Amino acid sequence: MVELLFCAAVLAGVVALGMYKAPLWAWAAALAVSAILWQSAIHGSMGLFGFALWLAAIAFGLLAVPQIRRTLLIAPAFKFVRGTLPKVSDTEAQALEAGTVGFDAELFSGEPDWDKLRSIAPIMLTPEEQAFLDGPTDELCRMIDDWQVRHTDREVSDEVWDFVKSRGFLGMLISKEHGGLGFSAQAQSLIIGKIASRSPDVVTIVMVPNSLGPGELIEKYGTERQKSYYLPRLAKGEEIPCFSLTGPTSGSDAATMRDIGIVTRAEHDDIVGIRLSWDKRYITLGPKATLVGLAFRAFDPDNILGRGENLGITVALIPANHPGVQIGRRHLPSGNAFPNGPNWGKDVFIPIDWVIGGEKMVGQGWRMLMECLAAGRAISLPSSATAGTKAMLRFTSAYGRIRKQFGFPVARMEGIEEPLARMIESAYACEAARAVTASMVSRGERPSVLSALMKYQTTERMRRAVDDAFDIHGGRAICDGPANYLQSAYQMVPVGITVEGANILTRTLITFAQGALRSHPYLYREIQAAQDPDTERGLDAFEAAFGDHIAFSVSNATGAFFHNLTWGAFVPAPDQAYEMAHWYRQLGRAARNFAFVADLTVATLGGALKTKQKIAGRLADALSELYFLACVLKRYEDDGRLSSDRTLVALAAANGLYRFQEALRGVVDNFPNAPARWLMRVVCFPLGSPYRPARDVLGHRAVKLVLDAPEVRDRLTRHIFVSNEPDDPTGLLEVTLKKVVAAEEAEKRLERAIRAGTIRRYHGIDWIGEAMAKGIVTESEGLQLREVETLVARVIAVDDFDPADLKPNYGGLGHNSRGAESAAAE
Ligand SMILES: Cc1cc2nc3c(=O)[nH]c(=O)nc-3n(C[C@H](O)[C@H](O)[C@H](O)COP(=O)(O)OP(=O)(O)OC[C@H]3O[C@@H](n4cnc5c(N)ncnc54)[C@H](O)[C@@H]3O)c2cc1C
Repeated sequence: MVELLFCAAVLAGVVALGMYKAPLWAWAAALAVSAILWQSAIHGSMGLFGFALWLAAIAFGLLAVPQIRRTLLIAPAFKFVRGTLPKVSDTEAQALEAGTVGFDAELFSGEPDWDKLRSIAPIMLTPEEQAFLDGPTDELCRMIDDWQVRHTDREVSDEVWDFVKSRGFLGMLISKEHGGLGFSAQAQSLIIGKIASRSPDVVTIVMVPNSLGPGELIEKYGTERQKSYYLPRLAKGEEIPCFSLTGPTSGSDAATMRDIGIVTRAEHDDIVGIRLSWDKRYITLGPKATLVGLAFRAFDPDNILGRGENLGITVALIPANHPGVQIGRRHLPSGNAFPNGPNWGKDVFIPIDWVIGGEKMVGQGWRMLMECLAAGRAISLPSSATAGTKAMLRFTSAYGRIRKQFGFPVARMEGIEEPLARMIESAYACEAARAVTASMVSRGERPSVLSALMKYQTTERMRRAVDDAFDIHGGRAICDGPANYLQSAYQMVPVGITVEGANILTRTLITFAQGALRSHPYLYREIQAAQDPDTERGLDAFEAAFGDHIAFSVSNATGAFFHNLTWGAFVPAPDQAYEMAHWYRQLGRAARNFAFVADLTVATLGGALKTKQKIAGRLADALSELYFLACVLKRYEDDGRLSSDRTLVALAAANGLYRFQEALRGVVDNFPNAPARWLMRVVCFPLGSPYRPARDVLGHRAVKLVLDAPEVRDRLTRHIFVSNEPDDPTGLLEVTLKKVVAAEEAEKRLERAIRAGTIRRYHGIDWIGEAMAKGIVTESEGLQLREVETLVARVIAVDDFDPADLKPNYGGLGHNSRGAESAAAE
């Protein structure tokens, strides 16, 4: 018994030494003391356990001597790492170095510093930004007729174009100095979100000029001439930009583009320029653009620039009316109306100073794109997808309360509660993560890993919210027409999923497989050291990183094991966490597990990580859940710790931790290396799976809050456009909802009378009149019920059409396929 207790004490000591990153000499000393105690006082002789303790003490003692450590451990590890760690290509290195590392590194560290999270500003707008959000943005939203845009005209109207140009919507990211609005990322995010909640097509024409493209690239890298000429014109909409990167053969793998620019001299004078041949497709705003931002690979076979032949990816600004530029016709992306199409050119000569940033920036295109992508990807799609999710919740909670079947509002039925609770959770969590991420960008961060996970998570959650909204609306959502306020979101879902890095690629490659390199505290330093052509210098740099890495790994393994055995009770929660302390502790515990598994995954899979995408995808999901939960806790605090929000936090936290656990379990169960799999299982799941999905009662409470507490519904759907006009399909929902709630008591009495057979409700019978005559409802209640009846009839109505009107308006125009043409030409 004493011996067993002693062994447990040694194990506890090892866990403590590991967790607190004790130096090697402390390990050696502690193990030696344990061996002496075992031998002299506990067991009486050395025995096997004493032998193991001595062996470990000697090993740690030797490793504590720097020269021995370098020879026995660091040098062999360096050699091994050179062979196994992922090789980083030039384009990858530029992508990795382009973005910044922020709170993601805290999650990778296993011990998040909550002060860093809390130091991120809550939503803050300047008075000018707020006035723009409440003024022109609302005005724009009121102008939009979604059906007119996406069906009747299949075009954003000139009136809307003129409005967005004249009010400066197209220059939100252009600085004031250059004629733009110079708005913060947070303001841009909220403005984009509000427009997105009204029309995905209109938001696209606003979003694209304010995202990766000519405006941003010129603002950041342009020459003074480019800035002073183009930026004021772009800001006022005198130039419509597009950004052409994707081609038929280079989609996700954009860097392999075949578009080429040969540095050359103009035939009759001495102007240095570039002769371009390209073939691009899917280009948003392309068919309307006056200024094409074109990405191509530059070569200088005659070494005119004196920098060798292969110069690399380059971005130039080409007026759309420049001779040789072919702006094609239009694609029809998921039936949406925003302009999108191909463009191409053959042997088109441009002066070299059309390259963004001029001659010195030839070959710097990939770095420029990656730097801007990290920030833009954090704003455009997360903002519009979050707004879409909130809009789905707003419309569906109203419709579900208005629409009755079996004598009850469908939203009160348990079966409907389930998807509705999921929508509530997504609306709360996506908005939390959107706000935090936008604030990071506002303060100058370019979060490459977080922007990637935000992009795929918010668009996936929106996809689910749209599906749930459709299910809850039933046939009302399926029949299209002017009254259908869900269809445009449905059409836009695949676009959000695909653009700016298609989601499968973003999840399985970019977020973790590349993100781990960026956010891991030591990995990228080790890889850089291992790739250093100067072996001695590389070994020195490697030694510095590797020692800390080992301590980090041991600390995470022991820390995760300890916290899993003690249910996270000893994980530190931040000051003033109060009622959220439990969730902070569980999040800290989960982060420890993530850090341990992520670290071991990279160490054992090395370069194979890029092909083990099911593992990398699950780790991306796990990281996403940690980030979203951290943002949820921050939102709760930023919003003033409202008691009603505790239910929402509990719902999001329980489900988030459960999804985190399932993602991690998926990694462990499928891990290809058996010893690592075994170790992960012991460390992360010593007592089995601790988390369960949120209990039904939480979902029930959340739905009840949304249905019965209008202020909670308002907060959950904040910052979207809300119409109160009965002639607008979404405004009709709002007006009807209020009337339905006001008439609830009278309606219940009427329903009871109908069920009892006192009143008959069939076509041709005035059942409300009968109810008034029989005293079941008062006269004023009867009038109220009549009004509700009329409004509800309008809410549940769907459109029908003359068959001739349903002929597609693009039917007779013919089509061609540039991809096939260009392939045939090659
Ligand atoms: C409506 C619309 C608007 C667009 N606007 C623009 C624009 O303005 N400018 C512009 O330059 N481009 C634009 N694009 C292009 C867009 O960025 C690409 O469609 C996107 O990058 C994916 O390329 P792809 O469609 O060729 O798919 P592919 O690259 O063929 O990918 C097919 C599938 O394979 C997956 N996949 C590919 N590689 C990997 C990998 N290594 N690991 C795992 N999965 C992988 C992808 O995730 C995807 O699911 C637009 C596209 C659309 C549809």
